Amino acid sequence: MTEIVLEGHFDATDRAVDEFPLLPFEVPPGTTRLHVRYQVSRQLSGDKVGWQEGNIVDVGLFDSRGAEFLTARGFRGWSGTARQEFTIAADEATPGYLPGPIQPGTWHVVLGLYQLAPEGCDYRVVVTLEEQDAGCKMQDAGSKERGAKDGPRWYRGDLHAHTWHSDGSAPLGDLVAAARAQGLDFVAVTEHNTISHLPLLPAHTTPDLLLIPGVEITTYHGHANVWPIDDFVEFRCWSDEQMARVREAVRAREALFSINHPKDGGPPWEFGDLFEPDCIEVWCSPWIVSNYQALAVWDAQLRRGRRITAVGGSDKHQGPFTGTLGWYEVGNPCTWVYADALSVETIIAGLRAGRVFISEGPAGPRLELAAEAEGQRATMGDELCLPSGAHLRLRCRVQGGAGNLLRLVSAQGIREAPIPDDDFIHECWVVVSGDTYWRAEVIEPPEAPLDEEPAALMAKALSNPIYVKATP
Ligand SMILES: [Zn+2]
Ligand SMILES: [Zn+2]
Repeated sequence: MTEIVLEGHFDATDRAVDEFPLLPFEVPPGTTRLHVRYQVSRQLSGDKVGWQEGNIVDVGLFDSRGAEFLTARGFRGWSGTARQEFTIAADEATPGYLPGPIQPGTWHVVLGLYQLAPEGCDYRVVVTLEEQDAGCKMQDAGSKERGAKDGPRWYRGDLHAHTWHSDGSAPLGDLVAAARAQGLDFVAVTEHNTISHLPLLPAHTTPDLLLIPGVEITTYHGHANVWPIDDFVEFRCWSDEQMARVREAVRAREALFSINHPKDGGPPWEFGDLFEPDCIEVWCSPWIVSNYQALAVWDAQLRRGRRITAVGGSDKHQGPFTGTLGWYEVGNPCTWVYADALSVETIIAGLRAGRVFISEGPAGPRLELAAEAEGQRATMGDELCLPSGAHLRLRCRVQGGAGNLLRLVSAQGIREAPIPDDDFIHECWVVVSGDTYWRAEVIEPPEAPLDEEPAALMAKALSNPIYVKATP
């Protein structure tokens, strides 16, 4: 057994240069097991950021195949501040880390300098290397077919959930049990920065419940979900330029990039406006948690002419499933995607096309928006090209929304209609006058004027837009 101690000090000057410093160490041939334990001075948990003086330092690991920006072929896992120690061996690893061969060569512990105390941070990392004659069992990744063809329809799911592979407190099986109890068709498992959950997903995917492999890029300046993934996604970003490169790499892999919870406490998105995301998480956890701010962020992008799909995510950090569903639960909110079948490819295609609405839960309300003019028909995500002055018919159907208010929102104004019953169809005509979009909201009748009190907006369901391009 060999023990390697890595010690040192980081302060604000170091953090300004690199928020994710690498600590190299050598692994000799014959090593079969590796244990990492770390401590920092004045250590705080991640939820104290900005609230208390002290050090918040995350941890992760790269093996000898490399730790380069974007590629990082040696990525072996990340645990943020959720764990003080972890182990990797050929056939097992602490959740959040990837089991597999312990290649000899130069490995790196990565520290994430989330917050530093004014005097800086003393760190001590102890790496223990073991040689033992352990049999190298193959990982059983499962062989069940992903998803099942079930014809074109609305599929309901959750695009943002965690297990103990990052900072959730229960295994994947508990998340799956809760999702099944909610009647969901799909769940994206989006661990913070790590991919150790990916090998487990196929075995938990059944014809009636699809697990979408994802990751939550978790930086100190904002979070973003990426789906689907099959490998490491870079997260060591603290500049707009770095994040733009990650965005391009995600696009090259034909995956979707979704800005998460852009609202107070989200934490918010602080990167600049260099690139368009594919999606924005307009509704994260129960609506009342400041989601009106995320809705405003998305609406501002729509007004600039951008086409970004609004999605929802519970951000559930699953605890043990007791058979009782809670308020903060997977599926609350629920994202509905119109797809040809239940598979990763078709759900991603539906998201990309914007055929999506969000409701407060799997029971609804259901909200569908369509439009028609001059022989053209459109549904959510589509574009209509119409001459200025054309008459556009909007048609909205709300199921399960009685007693609420329907709002049709555009860059050119808002129309409202009370919803008298649980299967309500509303139609109206608008005149095309310039480029715009139309989207629908089901909200509780507001207790204060929304232009004066935006926080008074209590959403029950949100549609995606139909885009209108006006021709002269
Ligand atoms: Zn997040
Ligand atoms: Zn999350």
